[in-house]
Amino acid sequence: MNGSCLFCKIVKGDIPAKIVHQDADVVAFHDIKPQAPTHVLIVPRQHIAKIDDITEFDQLTIGKLVHAGKVVASKLGINHEGYRLVFNNGPAAGQEVYHIHLHVLGGRNFAWPPG
Ligand code: 5GP
Ligand code: ZN
Repeated sequence: MNGSCLFCKIVKGDIPAKIVHQDADVVAFHDIKPQAPTHVLIVPRQHIAKIDDITEFDQLTIGKLVHAGKVVASKLGINHEGYRLVFNNGPAAGQEVYHIHLHVLGGRNFAWPPG
């Protein structure tokens, strides 16, 4: 828990969010500014600022985020047409919130290479 962290506040319930899935380790909620018809963020309950900070001890946590991505995609019905999972890490990647989050994007086609 980091007292000044926006996503820690969402995990704690101090700031409202449209929760789509949660368990003992992760919370998934709709992005406030969706970049696709379906845009969900999945965060660990544990505060980790960015992917570059993870250690070998965080491997299970990161795996749980990806697994929750699959669960959410299925729950929201974007699994058949396909979806994109994204971690932005650091300023060049456009990371705005420094609490690790997996973007789950679906409901449209995505370009490659990404912008
Ligand atoms: P980043 O750029 O750090 O990878 O993504 C941060 C995401 O958090 C953005 O897509 C942004 O729209 C979303 N976001 C920022 N503030 C809030 C908020 O208060 N609530 C929700 N649900 N999403 C937020
Ligand atoms: Zn946090």
